Amino acid sequence: MKTLVIANWKMNPQTLAEAKKLLEGTKKAADKAKGVTVVIAPPAIFLHELRASYRGKKISFGIQNAHAESAGSYTGETSLTQAHAAGASWAIIGHAERRAMGETDLDVRKKVAVALALKMTPVLCIGEKTRGPSGEHLALVKEQLKAGLADVPAAKLSKIVIAYEPVWAIGATEAMKPHDMHEMAIFIRKTLFDIYGKPGMAAKILYGGSIDETNAPSMLREGDVQGLLVGRASADAARFTRLLSAVEKA
Ligand code: PEP
Repeated sequence: MKTLVIANWKMNPQTLAEAKKLLEGTKKAADKAKGVTVVIAPPAIFLHELRASYRGKKISFGIQNAHAESAGSYTGETSLTQAHAAGASWAIIGHAERRAMGETDLDVRKKVAVALALKMTPVLCIGEKTRGPSGEHLALVKEQLKAGLADVPAAKLSKIVIAYEPVWAIGATEAMKPHDMHEMAIFIRKTLFDIYGKPGMAAKILYGGSIDETNAPSMLREGDVQGLLVGRASADAARFTRLLSAVEKA
């Protein structure tokens, strides 16, 4: 199975010309990484143009966030339907930076259901803000998972990607330890099994939070994950090239 690497460019870069350059650099690196599936989630404003200009099969495109309603009075929003029409086949949903801006579990639940209905792959982001000594974070992760998947039938689990991103490791200096990710992956799988039985095992699990070329190999070898959600290191072509080459070797 190929390793999935999702590039969340966040609010970078600043111009379409720079975005095209970053796509060009990413394309070269992605073409060399035969064992890796690459998804780019650029800022929504660049999505259509980048998708239209991309000549190749290796990279798929995603939206970093979108609204569940397909139309209406939602000033400043982009709908999942519009994102899909602009070329996004993936949707990052419930990213910690969106949750911090007020996105609720109910919003996440609706978005996951709409993305699936549009035949997009939802990347359901979950993760605790902090960890206490008595493991309260596990209850929160379980709650986020259950809420996000509340409208997803068992048969659709193979179309879902769960991105575990502990908030304390996003935009930080260090990633979580692979051993801790391994434990979390077991917990996520157990939760999915409890809800869905065996079909729950079909969901892919990714890790996200301060991943770069130095920590990606051990995370993939020891973290029990099928891929990575990468923020800052994906918005720089040279860094992302090093990362993809490290993932390919791992
Ligand atoms: C992210 O935005 O999902 C993320 C993991 O960011 P970073 O890699 O910069 O920590």
